[in-house]
Amino acid sequence: MKKVKTRFAPSPTGYLHIGSIRTALFSWLFSRQNQGEFILRIEDTDLKRSNQKSIDVIIDSMNWLNLNWDGELFYQTKRLKRYNEIIEQMLNNGTAYRCYCSRERLENLRKKQILNNKKPRYDGFCRNYVNDNFLNKSYVVRFLNPDKGSVIFNDKIRGFIEFKNQELDDLIIQRSDGSFTYNFCVVIDDWDMNITHVIRGEEHINNTPRQINILNALKAPIPEYAHVSLILNDDGKKLSKRNNTVSILQYRENGFLPQAILNHLVRLGWSHGDQEIFSLEEMKKYFSIDDVNKSSSSFNFNKLLWLNHYYINTLPSEEVANHLKWHIKKQNIDINDGPSLIELVNLFKNRCKTLKEMAKSCIYFYEEFNDFNFDDAKKYLNKTSYIFLEEIKSKLNLIKDWNHKNIEQVVKNAVIKFKVSMGKICMPLRIAITGITKTPNLYIIIYIIGKFRSVSRIEKALNFILNKKLWFLKIFD
Ligand code: GLU
Repeated sequence: MKKVKTRFAPSPTGYLHIGSIRTALFSWLFSRQNQGEFILRIEDTDLKRSNQKSIDVIIDSMNWLNLNWDGELFYQTKRLKRYNEIIEQMLNNGTAYRCYCSRERLENLRKKQILNNKKPRYDGFCRNYVNDNFLNKSYVVRFLNPDKGSVIFNDKIRGFIEFKNQELDDLIIQRSDGSFTYNFCVVIDDWDMNITHVIRGEEHINNTPRQINILNALKAPIPEYAHVSLILNDDGKKLSKRNNTVSILQYRENGFLPQAILNHLVRLGWSHGDQEIFSLEEMKKYFSIDDVNKSSSSFNFNKLLWLNHYYINTLPSEEVANHLKWHIKKQNIDINDGPSLIELVNLFKNRCKTLKEMAKSCIYFYEEFNDFNFDDAKKYLNKTSYIFLEEIKSKLNLIKDWNHKNIEQVVKNAVIKFKVSMGKICMPLRIAITGITKTPNLYIIIYIIGKFRSVSRIEKALNFILNKKLWFLKIFD
């Protein structure tokens, strides 16, 4: 048996769609579970639309998701010599021909065919022309598609698919400016790179019979094909940039872990009993391309969020911390003067569904803040809480052994002393220390922030209350 070899072949013309990543994942899994190879090929022959930024996005995304590829990174633009060589060969052996038809002729032909209720297709006018007459005229190169018979292939997801050759016309494989078309380059690449299985989006089904015909003309082996269905959104509509997040790197921006993304993607159109959670190892073990559903599947944002929370909670903290680092950097937080990333993960993993949320919720550990939210201050920083905060401040100052148990005791003593509920003291204290109303365990936070900084923050809150009294007598009760 031939060694399995699959590929991911994106065109670098913009962001990388989450649907493309699912195809890449299926392709990657199939090669890995068969001890095969997986290559990454940048299909950059469309010079107008391809750009370096999009290439970087592809590489960045694959690295982030840990979908490693084997060997060199291929670029179609580096293979032009090879494409030219094959064009020459095909012209010489008659499997391709030069077409000199003018734009007007083709336009008239099209109009006529439409008027006669026929599908517009090239009529093969230049098939039998002697090229020499037209030496100075510009031309395209067309593939001589067989006239008779059908192309039948057994799609691994959709079963047998048949196209009549009469429905396919003589495809342009080289344009008049010398550039090559998609269907041609893909065929030469898949052949040269010994691709055994082409796993790609269903939008390419119509290209497959054309590609098979060219492969046959070249006497090249035909790979197996699997065309993966579309991903829809919750409303059953195509996942689109207008209404949904579709760019894979946007998911990183939004604080998702690669494990959650891959887990959600593998389940779109494929299942293994009732199992929802799949590690990469389990995916490799159980995934089967033949069992992928041919109907479209729905991207469920809430499920992804659930998976993300699950992985934040269950992956080793060091691993989550590694991903968190990227977000901390994005928020411009300098963590040298505060808890480590691992400590952060341990503190926040239960409460944060995304890493972005985590990075945004921890700023008070590292940075002083100068203002309070107006509504929170109005509600919690007042005459009564002034007395509580003053008490806490002086008692915190007296703690010799700075640990969260002793800090908790200070608060509990104040609760007893003032005969009030815990909340009455904790909320003002939380706002004084962190500036916000929702945090993990307050005693641990105060412990981590340290005695000096905690006391000085309470002092700041006390001053705020005093100033508020002077300036806004009306809102100060
Ligand atoms: N470059 C094509 C695309 O981005 C994929 C071609 C293929 O997989 O055959 O849609």
